[in-house]
Amino acid sequence: MSELTHHTAAELADALASGATTSVAITQAHLDRIAEIDADVHAYLHVNAEVSLAAAQASDERRAAGKTLNALDGVPVAIKDVLVTTDMPSTAGSKILEGWMSPYDATPVRKLREAGLIPLGKTNMDEFAMGSSTEHSAYGPTRNPWDLTRIPGGSGGGSAAAVAAFEAPFALGSDTGGSIRQPAHVTGTVGVKPTYGGVSRYGAIALASSLDQIGPCSRTVLDAALLHDVIKGHDRHDSTSLTDNWPSFADAARHANLTGVRIGVIKQLNGDGFQAGVMARFRESLDMLAANGAEIVEVDLPAIEHAVAAYYLILPAEASSNLAKFDSVRFGMRVTPTGGGTVEQVMSATRDAGFGAEVKRRIILGTYALSAGYYDAYYGSAQKVRTLVQQDFANAFAGVDVLASPTAPTTAWKLGEQLDDPLAMWRGDVATIPANLAGIPGISIPAGLAEEDGMPVGIQFLAPAREDARLYNVAGALESLLTTTWGGSLLSQNRGLDTPGGYSTSVKGGAR
Ligand code: GLN
Repeated sequence: MSELTHHTAAELADALASGATTSVAITQAHLDRIAEIDADVHAYLHVNAEVSLAAAQASDERRAAGKTLNALDGVPVAIKDVLVTTDMPSTAGSKILEGWMSPYDATPVRKLREAGLIPLGKTNMDEFAMGSSTEHSAYGPTRNPWDLTRIPGGSGGGSAAAVAAFEAPFALGSDTGGSIRQPAHVTGTVGVKPTYGGVSRYGAIALASSLDQIGPCSRTVLDAALLHDVIKGHDRHDSTSLTDNWPSFADAARHANLTGVRIGVIKQLNGDGFQAGVMARFRESLDMLAANGAEIVEVDLPAIEHAVAAYYLILPAEASSNLAKFDSVRFGMRVTPTGGGTVEQVMSATRDAGFGAEVKRRIILGTYALSAGYYDAYYGSAQKVRTLVQQDFANAFAGVDVLASPTAPTTAWKLGEQLDDPLAMWRGDVATIPANLAGIPGISIPAGLAEEDGMPVGIQFLAPAREDARLYNVAGALESLLTTTWGGSLLSQNRGLDTPGGYSTSVKGGAR
């Protein structure tokens, strides 16, 4: 097989099954690709070359002995640095955890290993998953493989960029307010936020526990489904983990069928404040869905207008509590003031040196929102809005199977452009946050390139809780329609990293 890095995970699994290649060859190809381009992209914080190759060797030996663990046995995968791992440092993009080694594997990572997948490394992220650009990483930003001067989205920009740049076939991410779906939108990849409780959060360094969810990042809907199938399921270590018997998501993706599917377009996310190129691709996708058997209706979700405000109270409140454990005693960094100090002074000096500006901003906001005099006014009101958002979704799903919107209002902006304006960055989460408040699943898939800047645009689908399979069905159907129109995947149109001078031509070329 040529160019082992440019195949999907499903294709690699088939090639392994037929004996056309080996896990060692596939893993080495990805390590070579990382060595070649990751200085530019900076998708990875840590790469595990020797350990990965040893795991690949073991996979090849299992296969030779007829003891393959899973169809994906031997396929490499990247892991967002929010998930703890025993054989690589886990930092969540923060200085306060620099070099920290976990004594255990996060459950989704354990499941990958038990299925024989090969972890390649840990991917870059905004510190403690706070951000939409990966610029808040303490280890420097990741760059968008479509245009290295632009952001790759966030907080999981590292996982999305690794996948978009063919440095991993797929990856794990975490989505608290959009951190899997928005990076997918800006990098031309696929990202799925599962139903809350559908994938274990055990060993995921918590940002906001009632919103966080682990999920797949990939280049195709089928690959996301295959990875989701590996990581899903009950875990007694996570008290919010669902005990459902989930259907095969890969089957849903493989047998996609739009006949009779009712799709609700969210009125509040259908134009106002959205870039023209984002809306153009969104409307084309809707037309295509309608022309192929789906029924499109507009639905009203009035409470969504307050979702961003509610989220930016609930998230900081939970984060300020979750991050209290970084106290200089139990994990990572310790800074002692010159001349020594009390426990409080050491803690304060450590948190001052160890946390970045966005993390401090949210800890202060959250502590304030939870303080005795303001609790009801801020946190209490935000929780009421959360209930209204949940009711809006329940009402909407009484009439439609899935909801649709653009994944985010704009394409990838230039690095640095929004760094001094946190509110602007927060507002960009308008389309992704509601799903986290309601605990429902969402997917973003590529919808094309925006005319104005040649950058990728995503379309998002949302389904009721526990109905993740609907997302794979509708997204799988749209993906096959779109890729037929394009004559291949959207990513195959990005010549940037593989052609000298490729960036300017990719902008001029466009998707269509
Ligand atoms: N951009 C959102 C935030 O900054 C989403 C983060 C996430 O999903 N982890 O909170």
